[in-house]
This record gives sequence, C-alpha cells and structure tokens, in this order.
Amino acid sequence: HAKARGKDRYELFDQLMHSRTIEQLKLETDLRHALERSEFVVYYQPIVVTATGQIGGFEALVRWQHPTLGFIIPNRFIPTAEETGMVVRLGIWVLREACRQMYVWQSKFPATQAMEISVNLSGRQFFQSDLLEQICQVLAETGLPPYRLKLEITESTIMGDVVKTSSLLHQLRDIGIKLSLDDFGTGYSSLSYLHNFPLNTIKIDRSFIDRLGVNGENREIIEAIVDLAHKLNMNVIAEGVETTQQLEHLRSIGCEQVQGYLFAAPLPVEAIEKILSAEI
Ligand code: C2E
Ligand code: MG
Ligand code: MG
Ligand code: MG
Repeated sequence: HAKARGKDRYELFDQLMHSRTIEQLKLETDLRHALERSEFVVYYQPIVVTATGQIGGFEALVRWQHPTLGFIIPNRFIPTAEETGMVVRLGIWVLREACRQMYVWQSKFPATQAMEISVNLSGRQFFQSDLLEQICQVLAETGLPPYRLKLEITESTIMGDVVKTSSLLHQLRDIGIKLSLDDFGTGYSSLSYLHNFPLNTIKIDRSFIDRLGVNGENREIIEAIVDLAHKLNMNVIAEGVETTQQLEHLRSIGCEQVQGYLFAAPLPVEAIEKILSAEI
C-alpha cells in the first residue's frame, strides 16, 4: 500500500535524521574537548616540483583521532568547528604544530631547508582581529623563518571583503609569509580582483584535474588558468593529481607544482621521514 510505504519511509527518514543529528551533536560536544585531549594529528602531503620530481614542500592537513568514532577527516568536523568558532583555536594549533615540525626537520633533513610548509586558514580564522600577532608569535616560538611558511586561503574567504582581505594579505606578505589561493575555480571569484591580492600561488581545485582525463578534457581551461597566473606573477599548484596522464598534461602547460595520490597521500610524520631519508 502506497500510503503505508510512504509512512514507513517517513519514519525511516525521521530516524535517520534523528541519528544524524545526535551524531552531529556528539561531534560538536566532543570537538570542544578534542584539543585539550590531544586528539588532533597533523598529516603532511608532499607537494612535488613538476620539472624535477623533487619535493618542494608539504601541506599540513589535520585529522581527528576520535576515541570511539576513530579517524575522522576534516570535511566532517571543520564545518562544525567553523560554526562554533572552535576553528580559530584549532587553526592556531595546526599552524604551531606544522611550523614546529618543519623546524625539527630542518636539522634532521637539511634538504627540507629549501621546502615550504603550507597551512590552511579558515575564513573565520583569517578575519580574526589578532591573526597577525598570533602568526608572528608562532613563528617566534618555533623559530621557523617566515618565508618558509605559506598560508592557504580559499576563494570564498578572499571574496568576502576584498578591501579587508587585500590589506591583510599585504601585511602578511610584508612579514615575508607566502600566500596561496586554495581550491581555485570552485568559488565565484571575480577575476578582476585577483591582481589586487599579493598571492604567490594559485592552487587549481581537484575537480578540474579529475576531469583532465585520458582525452584531455578541461585542458584548455587549466591552461588558461596557468597563463593567467603567470601573467599575474603567480605560480600554480595542481591538486589531486592521480595519474601520469594528468601529470604529463600539467607538465606540458607549465604548471610548476603538483600534489596528489600519484606521489603520496597525506601521511603521518614517520612516513614522511621515511620518504625524506630515502630522498637524501
Ligand atoms: P584542501 O586544503 O583543498 O586540501 C586538499 C585535500 O585534497 C585534502 O583532503 C587531501 O587529502 C585531498 N587530496 C590530495 N590529493 C588527492 C588526490 O590525489 N585525490 C583525492 N581524491 N584527494 C586528494 P583532506 O585532508 O580531507 O582535507 C579536506 C579539506 O579540509 C582541505 O582541503 C581543507 O580545506 C580542510 N582542512 C584540512 N586541514 C585543515 C586545517 O588545518 N585548517 C583548516 N581551516 N582547514 C583544513
Ligand atoms: Mg589546502
Ligand atoms: Mg585545496
Ligand atoms: Mg580542495
């Protein structure tokens, strides 16, 4: 009976929604204590120089080791952390941890002295009034030179308030910190604003690289982004490179750096140290 089935479905839906909400509430509650309980871990994904195949740097990507739910990826808790404002404290923690780690690697693996560490900044964190102070404090505390730090900001963050953004980015650049525009192509950034921002790097979003399939779909668009970046004195990183065909396409259009499973997934410190030992 259609009506009865409809009702069953509704109940099932209701139950599902209910359990989702409970899970979400649990995540929210647990998230508040996760920092003090040291449940976050930073993973590092190599960023590779297209021309040489050498590691040019790493992106720091946070993971949550939940005591009962296990390993949780950022897409499941960053939005909640952003809503509750918790992302500000979490972001500073990730920044400090990544800078500290890079400083440690500097003496352990001298080749890393030429490498950069990229750290993601959330919108909420970016517009925090004491952002600059906080970053300077972390650099002073950890001893990492500012030019080895690169901050990743997304298009949607940057387009929120272009005047404020531009002034903030200039202040960061004046300290010597490098800047990347993350997930390029997914937001609705007005291209005419790009030249107002002192960015070093544009990161082409994975969704474009995904479709850079065997027949080179998207090739012209990616090529246009690379050309635009170069005209604005910026370099380009392609995210989510998974195949050698994609790599070849990217190499042929002059994309400077690549990041993706073809080289390595985000990895814990010990795994990165194995790679670094083998490289040197
Ligand atoms: P993102 O900054 O764009 O980071 C790149 C994401 O792409 C990472 O997902 C990475 O694991 C994934 N990825 C890299 N290569 C490949 C590939 O070849 N194939 C596929 N399918 N995926 C690949 P992850 O680590 O799950 O992070 C997701 C997002 O969460 C990040 O996107 C970033 O926006 C956010 N995030 C991660 N860590 C932090 C953090 O410390 N602070 C803030 N504010 N956001 C963070
Ligand atoms: Mg990023
Ligand atoms: Mg990205
Ligand atoms: Mg992305």
